[in-house]
Amino acid sequence: EAVADVEIERFGAKDVKDLSWQSLMDAYTCTECGRCTAVCPANITGKLLSPRKIMMDTRDRIEGVGSQLLGINIKADENHTLLEYYISKEEIWACTTCNACTNECPVDIDQVSIIMELRRYFYLEEAGCTGTLNAAITNIENNGAPWQFSMEDRMLWAEGLEVSTMASQLAQGKKPEYLFWVGSAGAFDDRYKKVTREFVKILNHLNINYSVLGTEESDSGDIARRAGNEMVYQMQAMMNIEVLNGYEVKKIITCDPHDFNTIKNEYPDLDGNFEVIHHSQFLQQMISEGSLSINDGILKGKKITYHDPCYLGRGNKEYEAPRSVLKALPAKNIEMGRNKQFALCCGAGGGQMFKEAEKGDKEIFIERTEEAIGTGCDIIATACPFCMTMMTDGLKYKNKEEEVKNYDIAELVSMSLSL
Ligand code: SF4
Ligand code: SF4
Repeated sequence: EAVADVEIERFGAKDVKDLSWQSLMDAYTCTECGRCTAVCPANITGKLLSPRKIMMDTRDRIEGVGSQLLGINIKADENHTLLEYYISKEEIWACTTCNACTNECPVDIDQVSIIMELRRYFYLEEAGCTGTLNAAITNIENNGAPWQFSMEDRMLWAEGLEVSTMASQLAQGKKPEYLFWVGSAGAFDDRYKKVTREFVKILNHLNINYSVLGTEESDSGDIARRAGNEMVYQMQAMMNIEVLNGYEVKKIITCDPHDFNTIKNEYPDLDGNFEVIHHSQFLQQMISEGSLSINDGILKGKKITYHDPCYLGRGNKEYEAPRSVLKALPAKNIEMGRNKQFALCCGAGGGQMFKEAEKGDKEIFIERTEEAIGTGCDIIATACPFCMTMMTDGLKYKNKEEEVKNYDIAELVSMSLSL
């Protein structure tokens, strides 16, 4: 077969013919009830995106293509593709991939997979994504992190702490039980580096047999994948899997729900099979086994509200572990109105962390921070580096930094243990 005769597969979807049967059937299943749009953080804050419209547009375009195929409407315009004519770039780039829409839909429609396919097409076949997100992905490609830091500096967060690397353990013929996956934010984000340090202090306090990859760790590729850059994602994933398999890693602990989700649910497609544990689950286990007892009264009387990270909560149905860790503290826990599977996204997912928000009348992080402040809490507890950035920015924006603090659950535990 001549090379020219081979039809080259298109990346992602530009039109309905590129979508899966599942997505096409979803478009016909939609009852147009609008429940998805009512909970969509992008829509709530005035952005153009409406998951209901995504489904209706898909159906309209199928009808157009269908009538053309049947010869009913042969003049239907070939160029009226799903992306651009029906659904604009602004709509697809407003999505935080929070999955509130899929969770809410009474007929189990997956609106996000259509948005993701359109993003993939746009990223790989056309212009890439918006400037700052593009830059973050170029950084991942060049230096293994979304920011311009050298991979050589990936262990600087650990200065002054006792943390061993897998390489040093292997050199001594040892194989640690756990690999602590630090993640790009855990290694380079100034605020989250503090969380990484506090979590490591807890691991050391418990005498856990663990190591890190250190300078051998590279970005998980999650951000690239959410932005639609499948190529960079796969390169990152394969590189990390090779290193992890090289050390025969079996169990991975991480504080980052995005990396947790990617390594747990997406690396297996590329032969990366690990037991992945979020730090909230690990802490819950230690508390329930009685290994970690918290007696210190430093948080006594404080009111804490917990913000569910989308990729831990809706993405992996983990609502209880962080809550039971917080319950073990001598503080009062109060819930926001939108919690657990109904929690509002912080606004940072789906690559939004690295780009300007699309046009709207409010930033999502402000909407969520207002809800948290509205509980009358003293502390907003988070369990994700991106949620932390958003909540901290929200508190600054609302001038509430003095009255309300934002801590990761690992920091609260470490604080209560006076580590
Ligand atoms: S995933 Fe979230 S932001 Fe994206 S369409 Fe669904 S509800 Fe809206
Ligand atoms: S919630 Fe489901 S059925 Fe209702 S409009 Fe959205 S996609 Fe359609």
